[in-house]
Amino acid sequence: MDRITERIKDCLKDVPEYVAGKSIEEVKQKYRLNRVVKLASNENPYGASKKAIKAFREFGDFHIYPKTDFVELREKIAEYVEVNADRIVLGAGMDGVLENIFKMFLNAGDEVIISIPSFPYYHTLTKIHCAKDVQVNRGEDFTMNVDAVLDKTNEKTKIIIVCSPNNPTGNVESREDIKRLIEETDALVFIDEAYVEFSDNDLMDLVDYENIVVARTFSKAFALANLRIGYAVMHEDLRKEYMKVSTPFPLSTSAVNAAIAALDDLEYTKRCIKLIVEERERLMKELSKFFKVYPSQANFLFVKSGVKAKTIAEELMKRGVIVRDCSNFIGCDEYSLRISVGRKEDNDFLLEALDDLKAEGIL
Ligand SMILES: *Cc1c(COP(=O)(O)O)cnc(C)c1O
Repeated sequence: MDRITERIKDCLKDVPEYVAGKSIEEVKQKYRLNRVVKLASNENPYGASKKAIKAFREFGDFHIYPKTDFVELREKIAEYVEVNADRIVLGAGMDGVLENIFKMFLNAGDEVIISIPSFPYYHTLTKIHCAKDVQVNRGEDFTMNVDAVLDKTNEKTKIIIVCSPNNPTGNVESREDIKRLIEETDALVFIDEAYVEFSDNDLMDLVDYENIVVARTFSKAFALANLRIGYAVMHEDLRKEYMKVSTPFPLSTSAVNAAIAALDDLEYTKRCIKLIVEERERLMKELSKFFKVYPSQANFLFVKSGVKAKTIAEELMKRGVIVRDCSNFIGCDEYSLRISVGRKEDNDFLLEALDDLKAEGIL
């Protein structure tokens, strides 16, 4: 008899398993440390709004299925992004939104254009759908090469990814470039604005084109990563199709209530953003003593040095600081690191560890 795994669809063979970074607890145990700071997953280090936490805890009807339309949250989001609520969809994190969009558009053999390096899940999802991830190199400053992207477009191209600010490089795309891209292609342009709150440049005003989706999340600036709430704005006709592919109950009522409360407490999120942006600018200056640091409009910094990222990440981990080695990102070299911006004391702890590495001749 054949092994059951041989019956699994062929294209899954090319799909890498997601390897999450080490947790604070794991690192504490492994290296017998009291203090560990995680600057690896671009989380908001200040935690969620107290009002959001309270709203989450107040709901207890766990035996009842959640609503499916979540009008109240969609109306709050509509107010926040200044579009009509009829054009907003929700998902289990932006990952869930991406999953639904890929389900809607991709047949086996179709193509998705990804400017590299970028968020690894785009490649994974493309392959899960037996489609091809067409990779286009970014420029020196990591902005997209729109002409090269348009050159690679053909009748099989279903989705073109724009990630702005881009993970892991932190740069944003110009409105004019993306407007031209949208106008010159028939493919869907998926705009990932997971980090837009940390940036002074958003692309939401392009959303009236029919072939665009702008997606955002409550995981980063709003500090609700664990609750898995993402959303997107799209044409109403697209929304109808989206609702067909979405699982019937993608979000829990507790999570939705927390997101509503977070939007009611926008002042809290704005304070976090201000602190993080200030620290980003300070950290950028301080890190330039050790690395080449790229300008960032997100809550992380992309850095390179002459020492392998793997070595630096390991040595920092031994000293209680977790950062993201990006050498396994498609399109990154082995010297690429991503460092999330923490609280002042977290960043200082990182800087002390880097001083150590320098003193010991590792850096
Ligand atoms: C974190 C992240 C997401 C996904 O966030 P969710 O937690 O699934 O909402 C999407 N895109 C980028 C670029 C990210 O960094």
